[in-house]
Amino acid sequence: MTPLAEIIAQRIRLQGPITIAEYMALALGHPEHGYYRRADPLGKAGDFTTAPEISQMFGELIGLWCAEIWRLMDSPEQFNLVELGPGRGTLMADALRAAKVLPGFNDAASIHMVETSPALRERQEVALAGSRPVTWHDDFGGVPAGPMILISNEFFDALPIHQFERTADGWRERQVTLDGDGFAFTLSTNRSPAEVLIPEILRMSAPARAVIEVSPASVSTMTAIAQQLEEDGGAAIIIDYGHTAPGAGETLQAVRRHAFHNVLSDPGSADLTAHVDFAALAAAGHPHAAIHGPVTQREFLKSLGIELRAGQLRQRATEAQARDIDTALHRLIDPAEMGTLFKVLVACDRGLAAPPGLEPTAGTE
Ligand code: SAH
Repeated sequence: MTPLAEIIAQRIRLQGPITIAEYMALALGHPEHGYYRRADPLGKAGDFTTAPEISQMFGELIGLWCAEIWRLMDSPEQFNLVELGPGRGTLMADALRAAKVLPGFNDAASIHMVETSPALRERQEVALAGSRPVTWHDDFGGVPAGPMILISNEFFDALPIHQFERTADGWRERQVTLDGDGFAFTLSTNRSPAEVLIPEILRMSAPARAVIEVSPASVSTMTAIAQQLEEDGGAAIIIDYGHTAPGAGETLQAVRRHAFHNVLSDPGSADLTAHVDFAALAAAGHPHAAIHGPVTQREFLKSLGIELRAGQLRQRATEAQARDIDTALHRLIDPAEMGTLFKVLVACDRGLAAPPGLEPTAGTE
């Protein structure tokens, strides 16, 4: 067993089966052996590749989007530009470069990165060298009050989820237990605290063996973001893979070296994620902020003009570079790639005009 598997096994021996949320939190965030505490997982040589690592166009368009939001906010002299889980800092660096077209934006931005990984904090520091001062925080709670523009790409999918399975006895929480030298799933014999915290689960009807997932960590982060927007103004853009209607079933997955991996093998050695429940995020934000979307990443990037931007880049490119630009564009917006699985949700303070890129696009596809 790996050191982290041994730590988890010991916990189960002492306290009995643990929830999937607890397993996920340890596998990803254990201070010494957690997946995101160890090394940089991104890129071809790592485990997975994200949109900002595919093409500079992604971060640039988000940067222009932020600049437009800042203008809609009446260009405050100071605001917090926050990113959750900024990875290598590529998105923020591309965004700041593109946003220079709007004078005053970069000077007004105080940059706040919410990042737990020491290795990725170092990468971010290098990517943003020469930018305005950057402050790092372990969670969103550390970000100071004030007007805010918040960016989040592939962050919420890493937050812990609970799974519940429908049995003849009602909903039971799925847990992780010991099975010989490894781990196995089991079902709770009693109601779990999560079930009590999320009473809607008890009211849901579903066929036998149906599985639902809930993420209290995502809901509380989204609530805190929306409250901050209500308090001091601004907008938050959340991009991730996920579903717009609840009840999508089981989506917990492990990925290592660009391939699926067993969720319960070698915890800490693979990325563990679940699809984001955008309906739950929208519901959490709704009491405090205006919610726009979700729309698909394809609709969003097309409406911000990604094809135009690709055309501009192609004009200055060699033939090989032009092929790379086309491949990147395809990966970002094609429905068979990231185009429709990835969604974009925006929360704004209620005084703000509608954000660009999220208008209904019926009939334009
Ligand atoms: N946004 C980046 C990276 C996505 S990977 C990109 O698109 O390339 C997920 C990111 O979230 C990593 O930076 C990871 O270290 C960070 N992260 C994961 N769980 C976290 C948590 N609970 N708190 C803070 N950061 C977290």
